[in-house]
Amino acid sequence: MKNKDHCIFCKIAQGEIPSPRVYEDELVFCIKDIQPQAKHHFLIISKQHISSLEEAFTQEKEKDSKVLLGHIFKVATEIAKKEGLLPHGFRTVINTNEGGGQTVFHLHVHLLGGETLKDRFN
Ligand code: 5GP
Ligand code: ZN
Repeated sequence: MKNKDHCIFCKIAQGEIPSPRVYEDELVFCIKDIQPQAKHHFLIISKQHISSLEEAFTQEKEKDSKVLLGHIFKVATEIAKKEGLLPHGFRTVINTNEGGGQTVFHLHVHLLGGETLKDRFN
Protein backbone atom coordinates (compact mmCIF):
# COMPACT_ATOMS: atom_id res chain seq x y z
CA MET A 1 0.00 0.00 0.00
CA LYS A 2 1.67 3.22 -1.13
CA ASN A 3 -0.85 5.49 0.60
CA LYS A 4 0.49 6.73 3.95
CA ASP A 5 -3.01 6.65 5.53
CA HIS A 6 -3.26 2.88 5.08
CA CYS A 7 0.39 2.09 5.78
CA ILE A 8 0.93 -0.76 8.26
CA PHE A 9 4.38 0.49 9.35
CA CYS A 10 2.98 4.01 10.00
CA LYS A 11 0.29 2.37 12.16
CA ILE A 12 2.94 0.40 14.08
CA ALA A 13 5.13 3.54 14.36
CA GLN A 14 2.21 5.48 15.86
CA GLY A 15 1.26 2.65 18.23
CA GLU A 16 -2.11 2.15 16.50
CA ILE A 17 -1.07 -1.47 15.95
CA PRO A 18 0.94 -2.77 18.91
CA SER A 19 4.29 -4.40 18.10
CA PRO A 20 7.04 -4.88 20.71
CA ARG A 21 10.14 -2.75 20.03
CA VAL A 22 13.57 -4.33 19.95
CA TYR A 23 14.98 -0.79 19.64
CA GLU A 24 13.65 2.75 19.20
CA ASP A 25 15.07 6.26 18.82
CA GLU A 26 13.95 9.55 17.26
CA LEU A 27 14.49 8.38 13.65
CA VAL A 28 13.83 4.63 13.58
CA PHE A 29 12.45 1.63 15.41
CA CYS A 30 13.12 -2.08 15.20
CA ILE A 31 10.64 -4.98 15.45
CA LYS A 32 10.83 -8.70 14.70
CA ASP A 33 9.49 -9.69 11.28
CA ILE A 34 6.10 -11.40 11.52
CA GLN A 35 7.14 -13.97 8.88
CA PRO A 36 10.83 -14.67 9.54
CA GLN A 37 12.98 -15.62 6.55
CA ALA A 38 15.93 -16.68 8.75
CA LYS A 39 16.48 -17.83 12.34
CA HIS A 40 16.70 -14.16 13.36
CA HIS A 41 14.81 -11.59 11.30
CA PHE A 42 14.43 -7.97 12.36
CA LEU A 43 13.09 -4.92 10.53
CA ILE A 44 14.63 -1.50 11.06
CA ILE A 45 11.94 0.95 10.05
CA SER A 46 12.08 4.69 9.41
CA LYS A 47 9.63 6.65 11.62
CA GLN A 48 8.95 9.00 8.74
CA HIS A 49 6.83 7.62 5.90
CA ILE A 50 9.09 7.30 2.85
CA SER A 51 7.68 4.78 0.40
CA SER A 52 10.92 3.26 -0.91
CA LEU A 53 14.65 3.69 -1.38
CA GLU A 54 13.80 5.23 -4.76
CA GLU A 55 11.74 7.94 -3.04
CA ALA A 56 14.41 8.40 -0.36
CA PHE A 57 16.92 9.43 -2.99
CA THR A 58 14.77 11.87 -4.92
CA GLN A 59 16.40 15.28 -5.05
CA GLU A 60 14.42 16.91 -2.24
CA LYS A 61 14.92 14.00 0.19
CA GLU A 62 18.48 13.02 -0.70
CA LYS A 63 20.27 15.07 1.97
CA ASP A 64 18.17 13.77 4.88
CA SER A 65 18.15 10.24 3.46
CA LYS A 66 21.95 10.01 3.46
CA VAL A 67 21.87 10.70 7.20
CA LEU A 68 18.87 8.40 7.78
CA LEU A 69 20.32 5.42 5.88
CA GLY A 70 23.71 5.82 7.56
CA HIS A 71 21.89 5.82 10.89
CA ILE A 72 19.81 2.73 9.97
CA PHE A 73 22.94 0.71 9.14
CA LYS A 74 24.65 1.84 12.35
CA VAL A 75 21.57 0.77 14.34
CA ALA A 76 21.43 -2.56 12.43
CA THR A 77 25.03 -3.28 13.40
CA GLU A 78 24.37 -2.36 17.04
CA ILE A 79 21.27 -4.59 17.15
CA ALA A 80 23.25 -7.43 15.52
CA LYS A 81 25.83 -7.11 18.32
CA LYS A 82 23.21 -6.93 21.06
CA GLU A 83 21.22 -9.88 19.69
CA GLY A 84 24.34 -12.07 19.38
CA LEU A 85 24.53 -12.10 15.55
CA LEU A 86 28.05 -10.71 15.77
CA PRO A 87 30.89 -11.58 15.55
CA HIS A 88 29.56 -14.50 13.46
CA GLY A 89 27.75 -12.31 10.91
CA PHE A 90 24.49 -11.05 9.49
CA ARG A 91 22.78 -9.98 6.26
CA THR A 92 20.93 -6.75 5.45
CA VAL A 93 18.39 -6.38 2.63
CA ILE A 94 16.34 -3.54 1.18
CA ASN A 95 13.73 -4.61 -1.35
CA THR A 96 12.86 -1.73 -3.64
CA ASN A 97 9.57 -1.51 -5.58
CA GLU A 98 7.44 -4.41 -6.82
CA GLY A 99 10.17 -5.73 -9.12
CA GLY A 100 12.56 -5.90 -6.16
CA GLY A 101 10.08 -7.83 -4.03
CA GLN A 102 8.96 -4.92 -1.85
CA THR A 103 5.56 -5.60 -0.23
CA VAL A 104 5.33 -2.84 2.41
CA PHE A 105 5.86 0.58 0.83
CA HIS A 106 7.46 2.27 3.83
CA LEU A 107 11.28 2.38 4.01
CA HIS A 108 12.79 -0.46 6.04
CA VAL A 109 15.90 -2.61 6.19
CA HIS A 110 15.79 -6.36 6.87
CA LEU A 111 18.40 -7.61 9.34
CA LEU A 112 18.82 -11.38 9.09
CA GLY A 113 21.05 -13.73 11.03
CA GLY A 114 21.69 -17.31 12.04
CA GLU A 115 21.05 -18.60 8.51
CA THR A 116 22.66 -17.68 5.19
CA LEU A 117 20.88 -17.59 1.83
CA LYS A 118 22.82 -20.79 0.97
CA ASP A 119 21.53 -22.54 4.14
CA ARG A 120 17.99 -21.59 3.24
CA PHE A 121 17.88 -22.47 -0.43
CA ASN A 122 20.23 -25.49 -0.60
P1 5GP B 1 9.28 -6.17 2.11
O1 5GP B 1 8.61 -7.34 1.46
O2 5GP B 1 8.49 -4.90 1.84
O3 5GP B 1 10.74 -6.03 1.81
O4 5GP B 1 9.23 -6.45 3.66
C1 5GP B 1 8.08 -6.32 4.42
C2 5GP B 1 8.23 -7.24 5.59
O5 5GP B 1 7.32 -6.83 6.60
C3 5GP B 1 7.92 -8.71 5.30
O6 5GP B 1 9.06 -9.51 5.60
C4 5GP B 1 6.74 -9.04 6.19
O7 5GP B 1 6.79 -10.33 6.75
C5 5GP B 1 6.83 -7.96 7.26
N1 5GP B 1 5.54 -7.55 7.84
C6 5GP B 1 4.41 -7.23 7.16
N2 5GP B 1 3.44 -6.87 8.00
C7 5GP B 1 3.97 -6.96 9.26
C8 5GP B 1 3.43 -6.72 10.56
O8 5GP B 1 2.28 -6.35 10.75
N3 5GP B 1 4.28 -6.91 11.62
C9 5GP B 1 5.58 -7.31 11.46
N4 5GP B 1 6.31 -7.46 12.55
N5 5GP B 1 6.11 -7.55 10.23
C10 5GP B 1 5.32 -7.38 9.15
ZN1 ZN C 1 4.20 4.44 6.30
